[in-house]
Amino acid sequence: MPDRTPRYGIIGHPLGHTMSPPLHNSALAHFGLPGSYQAWPIPPEALADFVASMRRSVEGGRPILGVSVTIPHKQAVMEMLDSVTGRAGAIGAVNTLYWDDGRLVGENTDCAGFCDPFRSGVAEIPRSALILGAGGASRAAVAGLRELGVQSICITNRTAERAGEIARDFSIDVVAWDERADVDAELLVNATPLGMSGESVQASPYPAEAFRPWQSAYDLIYNPLRTRFLREAGQAGCGVIDGLSMFIGQGLEQFRLWTGKEYSRESARSLLAGLL
Ligand code: NAP
Repeated sequence: MPDRTPRYGIIGHPLGHTMSPPLHNSALAHFGLPGSYQAWPIPPEALADFVASMRRSVEGGRPILGVSVTIPHKQAVMEMLDSVTGRAGAIGAVNTLYWDDGRLVGENTDCAGFCDPFRSGVAEIPRSALILGAGGASRAAVAGLRELGVQSICITNRTAERAGEIARDFSIDVVAWDERADVDAELLVNATPLGMSGESVQASPYPAEAFRPWQSAYDLIYNPLRTRFLREAGQAGCGVIDGLSMFIGQGLEQFRLWTGKEYSRESARSLLAGLL
């Protein structure tokens, strides 16, 4: 009998350290599901072969039932699939591959991940938000705020043109980077790497003196968990949301697409916070 044990994994290049394998393997074990989740470093020139092998795997051998997609493949993989969801199309990037009735589909669960703290009741849905940064995570955050029904969304970025592109794509407001502290937004979202462990760890995208106690700060960075942005927001009396919430939310949405099972965010958080 051929081995038909399912496989799951993450593709990217270079992959470096990723918390996705412990998250998904612990969820598989929790539900007693067969299979395992691995890290597959795939260079750009091997991406098409990987997608072809994923298609072949469901015909015979060990089927690849789900894949997480990270840098640099999030855009390139889109044209290799049978379809992408409307959400992934609007964001312009795919971070998840799953099978739907024999068709290979691309989804973007960063958007659901961004929304998770609001949908799970950890934080209140704001009426207005300012997004700092205009890369891939920023697009997922803007799409998420739209899905949550946030009325007023504004974006700012060091490079104004990139903020302008997102503002046009999503019909939101844009403000100059130097004027970001003047925006009266209930939620401030850090979608830049400022504050991430490494050489930017002491940096923050927002001036400490500009936080007001009725605001909340959401940092998409999860390493470290308490960034300078969140520390200074907390000191000013603001509510804070860390990036592990988004990471867990996007991962649990992937797991649900692949297995139909809802893994507990509390179990995921205690597992992953211990690994940081
Ligand atoms: P990206 O596409 O490279 O975009 C980075 C953004 O940060 C750009 O808008 C860039 O501005 C801005 N930026 C970079 N250095 C800056 C500086 N010194 N001063 C001011 N702005 C600066 O990155 P991304 O993929 O969107 O990721 C952004 C952050 O979100 C990262 O920290 C990442 O770890 C985090 N993230 C978290 C999750 C999660 O699950 N929690 C998921 C995805 C990403 P320019 O346009 O001017 O270069």
